[in-house]
Amino acid sequence: MPVYRYKAKIEGKSCNLCKKGFEVLQNINDRPLENCPECGAEVIRIFSEFSIGFSKTDLDRRAREKGFHKLKKVDKGKYEKLY
Ligand SMILES: [Zn+2]
Repeated sequence: MPVYRYKAKIEGKSCNLCKKGFEVLQNINDRPLENCPECGAEVIRIFSEFSIGFSKTDLDRRAREKGFHKLKKVDKGKYEKLY
């Protein structure tokens, strides 16, 4: 399942989750997120800077170091925070 990274579109309009950015495990057929699942602010999909050449464990560690949270879709419009 691919991981997508999102960030708040407007920095002033963001919560702890979308301010720094977060990652979401989504199915390839899922529509990209338009709103933060926590605060509803508009989000944009951003380029994942380390998507190639790193193991999944490395990616998780690096994302955590940068303060990213990771979400997993559990139901329609519902996300579970993995960290
Ligand atoms: Zn938010």
